[in-house]
Amino acid sequence: MVTEEQLYQHLHTVIHPEIKQDLVGLNLIREVTIQDNAVRVVVAVPFLEIPIKDDLTRSIQEALVSLDAHLKVQVDFVEMGQQERAAFMAQTGGTPPTAQAVNKITHVIAVLSGKGGVGKSLVTALLAVALQRRGLRVGVLDADITGPSQPMMFGLHENPLMSPLGIQPVKTQTGIKVMSINLLLPNEDQAVVWRGPLISKAIKQFWNDVVWGDLDYLVVDLPPGTSDASLTVMQSIPLSGVVLVTSPQDLAGMVVRKAAGMAQQLGAPILGLIENMSYILCPKCGERIEVFGPSQGGAMAERLDVPLLGRIPLDPELALHCDGGRIEAYDAADFVPIADSIIERSPALQKTYKRRV
Ligand code: ADP
Repeated sequence: MVTEEQLYQHLHTVIHPEIKQDLVGLNLIREVTIQDNAVRVVVAVPFLEIPIKDDLTRSIQEALVSLDAHLKVQVDFVEMGQQERAAFMAQTGGTPPTAQAVNKITHVIAVLSGKGGVGKSLVTALLAVALQRRGLRVGVLDADITGPSQPMMFGLHENPLMSPLGIQPVKTQTGIKVMSINLLLPNEDQAVVWRGPLISKAIKQFWNDVVWGDLDYLVVDLPPGTSDASLTVMQSIPLSGVVLVTSPQDLAGMVVRKAAGMAQQLGAPILGLIENMSYILCPKCGERIEVFGPSQGGAMAERLDVPLLGRIPLDPELALHCDGGRIEAYDAADFVPIADSIIERSPALQKTYKRRV
């Protein structure tokens, strides 16, 4: 039977992948316990968001299992305190990492509409909720600087905290990370009347300086239409794909075609089209009533040569959930297949997330 002391001493063989010294020598091992075959190792790290945690876990597990193949090794991490972190940085000659260095975002999906009021923000929020319900790690970047509505839909009112790495996004009830200009304003009813360059700066900051950490999906609520603001956002953030939102009242889809054209010009792949407010369900008989006339979604998608991801009904329940900050409590059954096809179609960002913009 191996003892805790033997396990601890054996951690001398695990080399920190960046500092190239062993973990015991670096004084990073806070705890080693063993009960039956279950081993727990607690490692101190300067920031919980550091990207090498998976590597460290694997190396520690391999090292200890080589002592005894029956061991089940769990590795937990604790964040160093401020002084300890400063001493560690000084000792190892490391520079404090930035948010950008620790963020690991696999897919960035932007939601775009030809004009305002078609439900783009709502689709953004529903998509984030559906992805989160799939067990994925999800963030929402509200890039609609002049009409930010994500905090309202998720019922968020608190200000984001600053950490040594950057701005911490605010977490929703189910753990979706949200960043929006509205969370930073002293008064959330205040209008943002910035011009293009300031808007562009804010968006870049939301991408570069927010500590998103590890995310499977970052869903971006773009400003409506093909204005400068949407163009700036699309150029500022490496997108893996764009989802177009339309409603049956769109002027024969002209504005949607413009939006699609902009995405194509910028080389962002269009994952598909969602027709919002497509119909209502009669509460008495369940019949689908197409209030705005027959759906144009299929024809529009065909014309743009993109898939129709789905149609969302106009639902008073949805409006209530959305306006009351309870979007995460909405059933959203219609949205499950839509989120599934977005997952299927979204190409991973590979290493582009590291690119500084
Ligand atoms: P956009 O982002 O395109 O400007 P929003 O997503 O903010 O539009 O939606 C505008 C308003 O319409 C919101 O108040 C929202 O609650 C409502 N709404 C949008 N889609 C639906 C829907 N399918 N059912 C009910 N209400 C909806």
